[in-house]
Amino acid sequence: MTTAITQRFTRRQVLGGALAAAGASAAAACVPEPPQRSVRRRVVVIGTGFGGSVTARRLAEAGVEVTLVERGRRWPAGVPGTFPTMFGVDRRVSWLSSTNSATALFPSVPLQPYTGLLERIKGDGMDVVVAAAVGGGSLPYHGMSVQPRGDLFARVMPGELDYDEFDRRWYPLVRAALGASPIPADVLASDRYASSRAFIEAVRAAGFPDARGEPMPIDWDIVRRELRGELPPNISVGDVIYGVNGPGKRSLDTNYLPAAEATGRVELLAQHRVSSIARDRNGRWVIPTERIDTDGVVHERVELVADALFLCAGSPNTTRLLVNAAGTGTIADLPDDVGRWWSTNGDLIVMQVLDHPTGTMQGGPASIASRDWDNPAGPMSLLFAPLPVPVDIGAMQTVAIFLPDGHGAFQYDARCGDAHLSFPASAHGASMAEARRRLAKLGRAAGSIASVDMTAAEPTTFHPLGGAVIGKVCDGFGRVLGQPGLYVNDGALIPGSTGCVNPSLTIAALAERNIARIIRTDVGTVF
Ligand SMILES: Cc1cc2nc3c(=O)[nH]c(=O)nc-3n(C[C@H](O)[C@H](O)[C@H](O)COP(=O)(O)OP(=O)(O)OC[C@H]3O[C@@H](n4cnc5c(N)ncnc54)[C@H](O)[C@@H]3O)c2cc1C
Repeated sequence: MTTAITQRFTRRQVLGGALAAAGASAAAACVPEPPQRSVRRRVVVIGTGFGGSVTARRLAEAGVEVTLVERGRRWPAGVPGTFPTMFGVDRRVSWLSSTNSATALFPSVPLQPYTGLLERIKGDGMDVVVAAAVGGGSLPYHGMSVQPRGDLFARVMPGELDYDEFDRRWYPLVRAALGASPIPADVLASDRYASSRAFIEAVRAAGFPDARGEPMPIDWDIVRRELRGELPPNISVGDVIYGVNGPGKRSLDTNYLPAAEATGRVELLAQHRVSSIARDRNGRWVIPTERIDTDGVVHERVELVADALFLCAGSPNTTRLLVNAAGTGTIADLPDDVGRWWSTNGDLIVMQVLDHPTGTMQGGPASIASRDWDNPAGPMSLLFAPLPVPVDIGAMQTVAIFLPDGHGAFQYDARCGDAHLSFPASAHGASMAEARRRLAKLGRAAGSIASVDMTAAEPTTFHPLGGAVIGKVCDGFGRVLGQPGLYVNDGALIPGSTGCVNPSLTIAALAERNIARIIRTDVGTVF
């Protein structure tokens, strides 16, 4: 139902996003007001990543009409030429920024801001890189879909979560939906994957537990066709973080999202950026959005008013919306812990240069890991992250995923009217030092003559978790405490670590579990 236009937006808000994105000055005050309207909806879900896709699909399958709001573009799945490549960077890599959001270590020419795939959120002590697209983090991610072991899950996840139930029900459900399976032996044995086999040997020589293929949401038959030369090399060379220019990767826009839309009950609003959230005096959720073009210019402001609001904008952006709502008072009585219990999932990336060739266009994506989980010096996973480099520079890129020592927090900064992340050095203290030791040992076993600590050079995480965690901000199923009809169902629920494994499988499994309960208990009562 469409109602009369409301005047909840200020002129500054209207112009701010578009002008900032376009790099224009505030003096350009004669830009016309975009039209605005207000619409009434039953359920709004913000974000189409793991949490949002699961939430929208299951609600719609249960008969609930859902409006699914996504700031990013809907890119065609698996189509050549859709994305830039690692060595052909252009404006499509970055979310409304003139620099390459993935890294400043390899400078590019200034980019004209665009609604590109990756957003860099700058913090004190840590930057965060997240996706902005229909399908969220499943577009740039490698896809390592690893289930943590029960004892590590219990160590880091909220006590409300029962590992046995996840093991029995939720992890298998998500693995099946993604079609995740490890690299087959014949693919691993092919020439292109020589660097993966060399990593496996180095792990053995260093005395770590044998490295193995982890479940990947990849159609390995497409990889085989690429290896036979029937398709151009895309997924098999792991050129993924700017998006994949061909078939083979089972991102969410190929499974959960089409299943949600097939119900006929999901209205997906792409290129709609949510600027804030509020609760009105009737207890309804008010969600101002800006419909933007690919330059970030606002063409329309659509205010959604809903009975239920699911925040699935990913850990930093869900947290931002909540911290800003608390800071500006648009939602009264939010829990004090909003913004806290945030961490990086314990990421360390080190590139080793070896004393021998390691091959060009190394077979990918990252799919091989050693589960060094019983090491008396602390549990950790050691991963091989192959590089799609056309020249053989003898590179072996390795990643450690450890248990962070502590947390950072997002806090409202009234000077800029936005939440800001502070991450203390102590949160990556002893565990990070141990991770460095272990990757150095691995490098020595592989014949390292030099190494570049990418994380020290540019402190960045690709695995943000927390900010609205279970037990502090939300109940055991993601209901925000004291706020009927407001839910969190994404990585923001998890207090900083998924137990030495990449987070997406656990985020999706948790979202499946939560929404199953919400459907049983809240549909028809709360909304
Ligand atoms: C380069 C890279 C590689 C990775 N590799 C792996 C891997 O191999 N394995 C693994 O498990 N994980 C990996 N990850 C991490 C993984 O992608 C994330 O953990 C996961 O996507 C988080 O899921 P989510 O549902 O919490 O949020 P997301 O998937 O980030 O989805 C959030 C969505 O909300 C949208 N959104 C945000 N703010 C707004 C707003 N204001 N208005 C409207 N929409 C909004 C975003 O555009 C996004 O689409 C990788 C991440 C990156 C960036």
